[in-house]
Amino acid sequence: MENMLVLEGLTKTYGDFYAAKNVTLNLKEGEFLTLLGPSGSGKTTTLKMVAGLEIPTSGGIFVHGEDITYLPPDKRGLGMVFQNYALFPHMTIKENIMFPLKIKKDGKRKQEMENLAMEYLRLVQLEHVAERKPSQLSGGQQQRIALARALVYSPPIVLMDEPLGALDKKLRGDMQLEIKRIQKKLHITTIYVTHDQEEALTMSDRIAIMNKGEIAMMGTPDEIYEKPNSVFVADFIGESNLIPVSRAASENGALVLRMKTKKASTFVHRPGGGPVTEFADDTRFVIRPEKMFVDRQLGERKKLTGKMIDVIYLGESVKYIILVDGEVQLKIKQQAIGGTRIFKEGEEVEIGWPDDAGQVLN
Ligand code: ATP
Repeated sequence: MENMLVLEGLTKTYGDFYAAKNVTLNLKEGEFLTLLGPSGSGKTTTLKMVAGLEIPTSGGIFVHGEDITYLPPDKRGLGMVFQNYALFPHMTIKENIMFPLKIKKDGKRKQEMENLAMEYLRLVQLEHVAERKPSQLSGGQQQRIALARALVYSPPIVLMDEPLGALDKKLRGDMQLEIKRIQKKLHITTIYVTHDQEEALTMSDRIAIMNKGEIAMMGTPDEIYEKPNSVFVADFIGESNLIPVSRAASENGALVLRMKTKKASTFVHRPGGGPVTEFADDTRFVIRPEKMFVDRQLGERKKLTGKMIDVIYLGESVKYIILVDGEVQLKIKQQAIGGTRIFKEGEEVEIGWPDDAGQVLN
């Protein structure tokens, strides 16, 4: 399918500081792409360039192949939803939603605009508040009105910057599903900005992880979670054990890794296909806590031994904190099914994981 929206080498500098550096993205029609990253990583800067609120230092923005890099915001035909949704306080909810239609001046009659506004109020399930003023709505309701207002003139592309930032956790979860439902139904191409990884994993077709103005990794939610391409991404998404290692030996496709500790324990890793990372000073063996297991004795499945230092019950799962080589703390998470073994603090335990679990990353 043809790319609907293309960002090509988008760069924004302030003095010699790169707020966004060489950001390149392609969005297909109807795709939901999230920019996810820590504070200051360039998400908002990138979105503002797409919106026309910041002029790029270099690079280009194309919609259906047409260069819109220097078009004024109102000529781009984009819908925008931001965290501070700024509804007009003196207008009713219906008037607020009609506002973009009035501005557009495309010859629609008043009745037609009213009908459209009501249609979008129904879409966000708030028809009954049409005649109220914004101050008479809750935060979540106001956010849904902002969404309706951004969508009412059927923009092919919608940009959203932390639109749920001001809402509490429960409402946030409901709104995530609501936005996703509407986005899918109307087949709207969407760029969404958040620093909340759970939100990104729930909502996105693809995620671009940003770090220091650059895209560190781009992929589907499960690619990003299962096959992070760097220590940064593995550390940013979900929980990971990051074990400093060097290469002790390699034999028949298996690597023997040596922990960078005084005791220098070794273990075998079989990279499951994919490129083998070059070893550097800060190379880590990266493994998710839920891929690992622990027991008093694991026989052949043993990779390392350690000392149990903490057992934390999390309801549906149990988290073990284990000290290996007297220096490195590892986290292991296991489902709390009946008969979960109770370890004593200070007890010696054995740790294992499937041979191909985990990755060597820089
Ligand atoms: P957050 O999640 O905190 O909103 P972000 O990833 O959206 O962060 P940006 O707002 O894009 O980050 O900012 C990227 C970097 O650019 C930050 O270090 C910020 O301080 C800097 N920056 C943004 N606007 C300007 C400006 N007008 N002048 C100088 N530096 C700026």
